[in-house]
Amino acid sequence: MRIARYTTGDDPHFGLVDGAGEKIAEITGDPMYMPIELTGQTTTVDEVRLLAPVIPRSKIIGIRANYLDHAREMGHTELPEEPGMFLIPNTAVVGPGDPVVIPSFVTEVSYEGELAVIIGRLCKDIEPEDAAKVIFGYTIANDVTARDLQRTDGQWARAKGLDTFCPLGPWIETELNPMDQSIVTRLDGEVVQDGTSADMIHGVSQLISHASKAFTLLPGDVILTGTPAGVGPVVAGQRVTVEIADIGELSNPFVDAE
Ligand code: MG
Repeated sequence: MRIARYTTGDDPHFGLVDGAGEKIAEITGDPMYMPIELTGQTTTVDEVRLLAPVIPRSKIIGIRANYLDHAREMGHTELPEEPGMFLIPNTAVVGPGDPVVIPSFVTEVSYEGELAVIIGRLCKDIEPEDAAKVIFGYTIANDVTARDLQRTDGQWARAKGLDTFCPLGPWIETELNPMDQSIVTRLDGEVVQDGTSADMIHGVSQLISHASKAFTLLPGDVILTGTPAGVGPVVAGQRVTVEIADIGELSNPFVDAE
């Protein structure tokens, strides 16, 4: 099932998207908290503006260096035995097509195409074998990073958490094998990342377990599962599109702050 959050100019609605990614059947409320009930209204993806499918209730948890080839390209010689985590504020989230705005004090920005996991219920101290029970679904993320701030700041609050630096979308897919997904990132149409989630060092179940032992997870929290190799610079005027075939595409233009 694919669940989109969208607007036709007024308050956001939720709807079920068909397999072709074309038609939307409106539902009555937020499916994370209410049973899914169709209103009978239908529209098409072309006629609406898709919004970030979830605004994380309390946090986005990012995972660093979760693909060996990416860890190597970032110069890591030793890999941590446990997943390395960082937090992104929910004010960084934007939706499909929304511009990523590069602040004037940032000189080097990178894209990171990633599979994102959306938590469906309040949980704590989850064991890996129980992790599937707390997953609501999956979407695509671009874990946009200010590399210059990442090097100089000592912690990553600004590097990862700037306004607009966490595009999510285009919708939530609830049925997915998270450990067998191709992740392809294009920069102005040219493939720059071509990986598979099968290459994650720590799988989705382990990431949820590890995160839930540090933090209570709430419905709507999002875990970014790390990026494959091929990260690189993006500048204003360019567009980054991340494709996970079983979900769809997340595409965002990059612009300079005015
Ligand atoms: Mg990342």
